[in-house]
Amino acid sequence: MKFCSNCGGLVEWRIPEGDALPRYICPSCHTIHYQNPKIVVGCIPEWEDRILLCRRAIEPRHGLWTVPSGFMENAETLVQGAARETLEEANARVEMGNLYAIYNIPHINQVHVLFRARLLDLDFSPGSESLDVRLFAETEIPWTELAFRVIHEPLRRYFEERQCGRLGFHMGTIEEIRG
Ligand SMILES: [Zn+2]
Repeated sequence: MKFCSNCGGLVEWRIPEGDALPRYICPSCHTIHYQNPKIVVGCIPEWEDRILLCRRAIEPRHGLWTVPSGFMENAETLVQGAARETLEEANARVEMGNLYAIYNIPHINQVHVLFRARLLDLDFSPGSESLDVRLFAETEIPWTELAFRVIHEPLRRYFEERQCGRLGFHMGTIEEIRG
């Protein structure tokens, strides 16, 4: 951030009085611009023993596969956000089920929330952000072509747990890989 979104003045990066962390502060209008993590919400749409994945038509990870998910919008609930993303990316209608996973990704300031969901019908097709939308059985999942680590981990666990017939909620943290 360079300019104040309130008055257009140059902002400074410093710790406000009584605070513990540096923030963008506008010396002209005295606005403190707090920045907080973003929520990414999505779901695993299920149809019998298969799940629906979308092949991304946008960067990052163009051409790779992921579950329907995206940034939560203001004024919506988590369930509404997950359903909206599924409709936008896959033109698919779902009934949202249980909360399945929450992943913290501190190094990119995101929290990912993933539900299980039941596809209501097979009338789905790629939305504008998808190249393709398909149902995959466990043996067909393109593991090496998944777009994000935060999708890989819950999907692995999902199929393991489904074999045992016991799907439970998990919370995890995706750490930065340092090379
Ligand atoms: Zn200002």
